[in-house]
Amino acid sequence: MLGSMMKKELLISDLIVHAAKYHADTEIVSRETTGEMHTTNWADVGDASRKLASALGKLGLSQGDRVATLAWNNHRHLKIWFAVSGGGMVCHTLNPRLFPEQFIFICNDAADKAMFFDKTFMPLITGTRAHLNTVEHFIYMGAHDDEVAEAVPGVVFFDELIETGADDYDWPQISEDSPCSLCYTSGTTGNPKGVLYANRSTMLHTFSIALPDSLGLSANEVILPVVPMFHANAWGIPYAAAMTGAKLVMPGPGLDGDSLLGLVDDYQVSLALGVPTIWQMLLASAAKSGSRMASLKRNVIGGSAAAPSMIATFRDDYDCDTIHAWGMTETSPLGSANQPKAKHADLDAEAMAALRVGQGRPPFGIDLRIVDDAGKEFPNDGTTQGALQCCGHWVVDTYFGKDASAMTEDGWFDTGDVATIDADGFMTIRDRTKDIIKSGGEWISSVELEGVAVSHPGVAMAAAIGATHPKWDERPIIIAVKAEGAEVTEAEVIAHFEGKIAKWQTPDAVVFTDTIPLNATGKMLKNKLRDQFGNTLIEKGT
Ligand code: AMP
Repeated sequence: MLGSMMKKELLISDLIVHAAKYHADTEIVSRETTGEMHTTNWADVGDASRKLASALGKLGLSQGDRVATLAWNNHRHLKIWFAVSGGGMVCHTLNPRLFPEQFIFICNDAADKAMFFDKTFMPLITGTRAHLNTVEHFIYMGAHDDEVAEAVPGVVFFDELIETGADDYDWPQISEDSPCSLCYTSGTTGNPKGVLYANRSTMLHTFSIALPDSLGLSANEVILPVVPMFHANAWGIPYAAAMTGAKLVMPGPGLDGDSLLGLVDDYQVSLALGVPTIWQMLLASAAKSGSRMASLKRNVIGGSAAAPSMIATFRDDYDCDTIHAWGMTETSPLGSANQPKAKHADLDAEAMAALRVGQGRPPFGIDLRIVDDAGKEFPNDGTTQGALQCCGHWVVDTYFGKDASAMTEDGWFDTGDVATIDADGFMTIRDRTKDIIKSGGEWISSVELEGVAVSHPGVAMAAAIGATHPKWDERPIIIAVKAEGAEVTEAEVIAHFEGKIAKWQTPDAVVFTDTIPLNATGKMLKNKLRDQFGNTLIEKGT
């Protein structure tokens, strides 16, 4: 047929070209590893990333090569992202919180050819270097530094390397199906698996997360991505900030409540994103300092379930609207976001609060369903719970380096989560399949119990696990960390559940502990807690 539209490949490089051209003077603020603040803008990120891409080519890297980063959220990391992906290489973000064995496994599995690192992580490099079989270039993210030169023989310095790049480098016109980045799952059991994102899948995800009913991004936003760039690509924020021309405030190593609060207030952050433990620290700092966090209009909580009491605190005490979002490394990561529809405008405060507690509905491009053990679809009635599966333009098909498809026979990805979905598509995570508490054949949501437990003012953090029970197989118990200075007792925490959940779901015991172990992306390590506390009820002679 006569007539057609332009065909342009969907490429990461186009994001930075756009941001540098149309949002040239929009600032990128970042905290350096030294603690100092650094300010640049999209024009500089554009120029620097092009020069760096050229320099990486001169260093011997070619398209498809994996280039790893071991870095905080900062401006050099941002430049590396666009340089590597824009230049046709694959940006492999490494999680520095992994155990060295896992770290070594991942680098070798990915066959990383080069590795950028911030100074904080130098010990990890020196400690594991002998086992990193494929890395040919270690690149320190800074200016020349004698200490680094001595500790990492042969190291290349970012600030020197970039000067070797050509000013007139043009981004290669590659296929949109070519890979742009790689991220490993934080798997609590077994070896982590790599998810290889494509330019196309990342670009479609970027369009999607910017939509008003997703994260609602724009050039008017000042965004603080607390979620690390190594945790599912900081949920796509660096790409979406470039697409929309938003200002970025990158927190560097300062992830404690006081440092984050300082950034929110000093740079008038309007939107911040992170996992629940981050918000707990920020709220504690805000309460102590008396800051109203007046600029913070919205925050995105994901990675683990946001407790209803936390959403309420942001809403009532700080006038901040929480967008509860769900996703996985395998889903790029956004799979759903909680944004009401027009029909919800007249809901009373209680009904609206109840609606906002769940993980929300999928944007266009993602489909969700819940199924039984045989894979038969359950109805979206808001009460039936089943295994959550998803499919879409930015969902994994096959893990990096594997032959077998990661999908079910009919083309869906099994998330390992248990959820309900209502008729409007609002999805609520009930649990991880392996964490749900099975009491006498009935399922109890550990997420729900944890939400109630932390709504007690004396409880700072809580994990609900199934403890072995002679009669019911498992009964719920709570492992809790007390809030600073709180004197709360086991009986008080148990009494707090009254009227909030069905009586038979009430935990049988509360064990107080000093800390709850977290994995590399801030999720509670339930398997460790089960090992440690799984016999609590047997020992009590229940
Ligand atoms: P990761 O790939 O490390 O991001 O982990 C993905 C898993 O985190 C999901 O399968 C969920 O179990 C969990 N998760 C992510 N977001 C949420 C959320 N908002 N509420 C509850 N669980 C979540």
